[in-house]
Amino acid sequence: MIVMKFGGTSVEDAAAIGRLVSIVRRELSRQPLIVVSAMGKTTNRLLACAQLAAEGKREDAHNELAAIAQHHFNAAEELASSDHSAELSASLELRFAEVRSYLDDIVAEGRLTPRLSDSVAANGELLSSLIVDAALRANGINSLWTDVRPMMRTSNAFTRARVEFETATPRLLAGFGPILANAGVPVTQGFIGADSDGATTTIGRGGSDYSGAIIGAALDADEIEIWTDVDGIMTTDPQLVPEAAKVSLISFAEAAELAYFGAKVLHPSTLLPAIAKEIPVSVRNSRRPELSGTRIVRTAPLSRALVKAIAFKRGITIVNVTSDRMLMAYGFLSRLFEVFARHQTAVDMVSTSEVSVSVTLDDTHRLEGIISELRELGEVSVESDQALICLVGEQLKFTPGVAARIFSSIEGVNVSMISHGASAINVSFVVAGDQVEEAVLALHREFFHEGHEVHEGNEALGVLRVLRGSS
Ligand code: ADP
Ligand code: ASP
Ligand code: MG
Repeated sequence: MIVMKFGGTSVEDAAAIGRLVSIVRRELSRQPLIVVSAMGKTTNRLLACAQLAAEGKREDAHNELAAIAQHHFNAAEELASSDHSAELSASLELRFAEVRSYLDDIVAEGRLTPRLSDSVAANGELLSSLIVDAALRANGINSLWTDVRPMMRTSNAFTRARVEFETATPRLLAGFGPILANAGVPVTQGFIGADSDGATTTIGRGGSDYSGAIIGAALDADEIEIWTDVDGIMTTDPQLVPEAAKVSLISFAEAAELAYFGAKVLHPSTLLPAIAKEIPVSVRNSRRPELSGTRIVRTAPLSRALVKAIAFKRGITIVNVTSDRMLMAYGFLSRLFEVFARHQTAVDMVSTSEVSVSVTLDDTHRLEGIISELRELGEVSVESDQALICLVGEQLKFTPGVAARIFSSIEGVNVSMISHGASAINVSFVVAGDQVEEAVLALHREFFHEGHEVHEGNEALGVLRVLRGSS
């Protein structure tokens, strides 16, 4: 079997869902299981409704929800067969009634609890999957809408729940296995799950990729396909650098670093379940299904490309702790990291000197508590609005002079932290948030534009250049 995960833009309206149907139809012999995100920006819009409700703006919240409903009913009307249209409308209406009552609960509570936030947000995926299921059936495909929540067991850390694999894996297998065995095509939701009390949870924004990979690993899929709005993993975010080119083949290790350091095309946890089971993952463009996309495999053959791709992540905070007590002392770092662990906050990058330690954080929602505990260890300072940039490539570890090339290409940019060596395949560093675009453009020019470097997409060209002895 294969898992086919379709992101927000790939199910954004009737036309996109129409494309999904033809993509799935071509893969029927491989026993596809379909995982979908919410339509377009629905998650953001639902959360905006919840926010309005929290501010006591009940009418505005209900009006915005009505606009979301209209968009869904329009798509449903275009896609469902006449036999199923009434049934689909009733299912959608039930979901909207549920959201309306959650909005009223939020108004009554006077604030948006993480639990209610998840109850509202989860409806994006529940709604889109109902419409996709109906569209597949209208086209003669034997699909079966399946609520993933009773199977995808998570912790109760609402809005960022952790998947409890010991429970989820056997349930996913028992839930989806028989449908596939009967030649059915399950249609289910990314992003959502439920805790042990049955309360709806979500696993973090952008989490549908991760859901797809978890389901793929549970069912021992032959492949996990991530269908999105770009041609694959690109040399950098094409929104910033339109000339970015597709990377055809990339290793798990390289892709995992890129996702971790901000390449939004894959949720950072996506590859963990796939790596554990060695399941190849591909990233494909649902608007251009004729393209082969990017294949992520255990070991990609070494390409001539020195740098495979450049990722960046905005909104990073640096925390510096300076203390004389660090000098020649042991145990200091362990006490420091215990503070972050107690606050369940992940540290991305670390750099130390004789008397100071700097770490970067992505998630700052417990920063105040962290700082007050760190003050017991030394003097603390915080720099917000920073950005992380990360260059990834299996070849980096074999190539002298890379650092010189990187930093001379961004001469005018102030670099405040550098890390290389922890993973031999990446070089990452921190710059001020307002310089990240300039830096990424310069780095992309240096490594991908001017004939200096060859990447997978230009492999044939690169071989030619080498044969002809040109640069
Ligand atoms: P989906 O809704 O399908 O999950 P996302 O918006 O989450 O799609 O991810 C796709 C987006 O990721 C692209 O539109 C692109 O702007 C962004 N992106 C960032 N870095 C990269 C990269 N290296 N390669 C491809 N896309 C990238
Ligand atoms: N719909 C969710 C979000 O917007 C999950 C996803 O799209 O991956 O975050
Ligand atoms: Mg995504």
